[in-house]
Amino acid sequence: MTGSMENGNGVTQPRFGTLAVHAGAPHDPVTGAVIAPISLSTTYEQTSVGNPVGLYEYTRSSNPNRDNFEQAVAALEHAKYALAFSSGSATTATILQSLAAGSHVVSVSDVYGGTHRYFTKVAAAHGVHVTFSPCIELHVEDLIRPNDTKLIWIETPSNPTLGLVDIKAVAEMAHRHGILVVVDNTFMSPYVQNPLDHGADIVIHSVTKYINGHSDVLMGVAAFSSETLKERLTFLQNAIGAVPSPFDCWLAHRGLKTLHLRAREATTNATIVAQALEASPHVLSVNYPGLASHPHRAIAIKQHRNGMGGGMLSFRIKGGQRAAHLFCQNTKIFTLAESLGGVESLCEVPSSMTHAGIPKDQREAAGVFDDLVRVSCGVEDGEDLKLDVLQALEGAVAGAEKMVNGSS
Ligand SMILES: *Cc1c(COP(=O)(O)O)cnc(C)c1O
Repeated sequence: MTGSMENGNGVTQPRFGTLAVHAGAPHDPVTGAVIAPISLSTTYEQTSVGNPVGLYEYTRSSNPNRDNFEQAVAALEHAKYALAFSSGSATTATILQSLAAGSHVVSVSDVYGGTHRYFTKVAAAHGVHVTFSPCIELHVEDLIRPNDTKLIWIETPSNPTLGLVDIKAVAEMAHRHGILVVVDNTFMSPYVQNPLDHGADIVIHSVTKYINGHSDVLMGVAAFSSETLKERLTFLQNAIGAVPSPFDCWLAHRGLKTLHLRAREATTNATIVAQALEASPHVLSVNYPGLASHPHRAIAIKQHRNGMGGGMLSFRIKGGQRAAHLFCQNTKIFTLAESLGGVESLCEVPSSMTHAGIPKDQREAAGVFDDLVRVSCGVEDGEDLKLDVLQALEGAVAGAEKMVNGSS
């Protein structure tokens, strides 16, 4: 690392905020620029055949902005290596592509919709089969097929009901059978949770969400420490070519520098909102891992930084689907939109939007009822967010009642 980092006493390991700002962020050795330029060149000069001037040959294989971003994510996830991809979905696809035909994967049931789609509709086409489990800690050992199971896929917290998986418990079982564990850490971000510290082998993110954090980049990343994985996944990153642009890497790296500030504020705000919801007579139940009432609170305490709950929560509103829809139309600060993890607060109705593709009985078995509202808390003022939620609740419940009475 450069500049101010060298002036420290060199004894303690830099902590998260210091790494977020400085990891993978060298000053330009020629101009002294504090911020790296965007390296748009697709190709790099060679002085003789096979001898490039610097480290680079062709931008799909590697690029300075991608390298810098990858180094920063590796540092924040306590990994040796990170590889960036053109989306979170491309990251998932590349990892699944690394498995031989005939491989078997055990996955938690409540995965991101696009992950579920890839597992059920794409992976099978190249001979990789996925079994889903609603309680993976209890059932993983029974679902493992001795010679075929190569991967266990965890997403914690789950989407949109915020259930938690004990990564260490699953990783210990998996490793007894020589199986790798992947954790999709998108919802928590590396600030709140570091899955490799709990025994996972690969951590992935949709960078589109918290890491970039400004709702203006689509990108993904995988981080890990194994040399074998590095060789295999680097090969596939280049061979498949689902790589992000230098500009997107530069933007996502800029976003990552404030991840700790945003993640802390989002947690503070989500806690304020979750407590207000829990106290409201218009709310049936609240799913937020930061609340003492959360069924997996004990996992949050051991797996999340300071037991933080993160910026995501969901709740069931009284008045059914109608009230849920009205709530999202009535908010003035929360925007009705899919996605999450940006500086701006968003809300949506999973049963009608992000999870509409899942059959109703399966959805409800996973707790995704028609009256469930999912909320991504941004970094606006927490009191304003709370007041917005409370006024939207009043309006939604009154509106839903009026429609019921009017139509009966
Ligand atoms: C958004 C998301 C993805 C997919 O990422 P894209 O960048 O949209 O392709 C994967 N997992 C989770 C948990 C997500 O929220």
